[in-house]
Amino acid sequence: MTKYVFVTGGVTSSLGKGIVSASLAKLLQEHGFKVSIQKFDPYINVDPGTLNPYEHGECYVTDDGAETDLDLGHYERFLNSPTSQANNVTTGRIYQTVINKERAGDYLGKTVQVIPHITDEIKRRITLLGDTEYDIIITELGGTVGDIESLPYLEALRQLRMELGDRDTISIHLTLIPYLSAAGELKTKPTQHSVKELLQAGIQPDILVCRTENPIGEDIRAKLALFCNVKKNCVIEAIDASSIYDVPILMHSEKLDVRVLQKLGLRSKKKVELKKWKVFLDHLKNPKRNVTIGLIGKYNELPDAYKSIYEAFVHAGAANLTKVNVVAVHSEDLEDRKMIHQTLSGLDGILIAPGFGERGIQGKILAVQYARERKIPFFGICLGMQCASVEFARNVLKIKDAASTEVRPNTKNPVIHMMAEQLRVKNKGGTMRLGAYPCALKVDSLSGKAYGKKYISERHRHRFEFNNKYLKVFEKKGMIISGVNPDRSLVEIIELRDHPWFVGVQFHPELKSTVERPHPLFVDFVKACVVHRQNV
Ligand code: GLN
Repeated sequence: MTKYVFVTGGVTSSLGKGIVSASLAKLLQEHGFKVSIQKFDPYINVDPGTLNPYEHGECYVTDDGAETDLDLGHYERFLNSPTSQANNVTTGRIYQTVINKERAGDYLGKTVQVIPHITDEIKRRITLLGDTEYDIIITELGGTVGDIESLPYLEALRQLRMELGDRDTISIHLTLIPYLSAAGELKTKPTQHSVKELLQAGIQPDILVCRTENPIGEDIRAKLALFCNVKKNCVIEAIDASSIYDVPILMHSEKLDVRVLQKLGLRSKKKVELKKWKVFLDHLKNPKRNVTIGLIGKYNELPDAYKSIYEAFVHAGAANLTKVNVVAVHSEDLEDRKMIHQTLSGLDGILIAPGFGERGIQGKILAVQYARERKIPFFGICLGMQCASVEFARNVLKIKDAASTEVRPNTKNPVIHMMAEQLRVKNKGGTMRLGAYPCALKVDSLSGKAYGKKYISERHRHRFEFNNKYLKVFEKKGMIISGVNPDRSLVEIIELRDHPWFVGVQFHPELKSTVERPHPLFVDFVKACVVHRQNV
């Protein structure tokens, strides 16, 4: 019988619900349970795929091709197991399902209403994962308690608690305990109000997780317990941590995992050791060297837009005992050639980020040229690989008007062009080449050696691809096509013969890097950056 843990947030957004949920899941996994996490987002977009990264940060893609919230990235990085379409659901998706059913006549003439039809669909989506192999499902509700748009979700959670009972469901409320420096005090009142909101929706939290900048003493714990009607040992301190990867350790020392198991009537199957996790933390905190890598993108104002790339560098840095300083470089700032040397000369490696549209492309292409000519380790991801192909065509093959048709639709030399099946696509949502596809590697290439195997699977999110018409000329002049899709011969990885480390990938390796399985290409790239730094 699957057990359910509901996580809500109060007082403000950005308290780190995703990290707390992922940390709890990690601990429960360590106790020997099969755990999955899902996120419900109360916005009306059917998924975040059409959202501008400035709005919502990175769009995380799963193996089965779902475009999802970036919290799913944390779930995978912590749990080291893949998520799917079922792990992220929005209000838009819920309503779309209900409206489609109504149009199909499935409600048999009934009036379709928020209660019970929308709440039933929410409950169906929550329990969908439970019907599979999991012992525990953690359901994180996006937004803050008190938001109008959260109400149907809270009602669904209330109903599920009634239907499944106290032993099989628990409710965790993540809240903020602000510190008023003028008064020199931590304040519990916002939490009291937030819990009142929850109670109004019929939900009594079992556990309070309290975000705080300062330790909460026994007095605060007792006060919260009294006013919020929870046991004192269920008031859990979540103090600010220097790294998100410290949070599982902090939650374990506060016994969040133990309280959850007690409430659910579950007995731990094994001792929590977190061996690999602790080795990773030790490497992370005791680096032997530094490298500085430029992340060339156009959404740099919001680091969340490249969340998985930053995290992949954390994992790969630890694997190399190296602190990776990632410097965000705005591609538009590189369009002035004078700026190129000034900005890029001190870097040990250059990564060109994924992206869409024309803005900032010229700067990215100039940055590729700089890395290629000066033999600086280079990693191009998706659009970054496409820019590397265009740069090679223009400056090595001397095809001056070479371009991607995404940027110049009428170019005579479309070295990057739209994928055939994309030509008939009209709708923007969920229509890219999405999710995991196989790729066959040249075993003696940089990538082949980094992965150490012939066949890999990586996740995609794009509409354009390398134009195979140009394959032969590229290869003749020193480009190595080291990875192709075995079914359709699509170019998936490019490398350069006369360069210490130059790799462009059409897929998104950053999405599959986890604490326990740092991504081989990121690990190898960081290694190449270390070597480059030693040699200059
Ligand atoms: N805009 C490019 C495409 O659609 C690259 C996409 C990406 O970087 N994810 O093919």
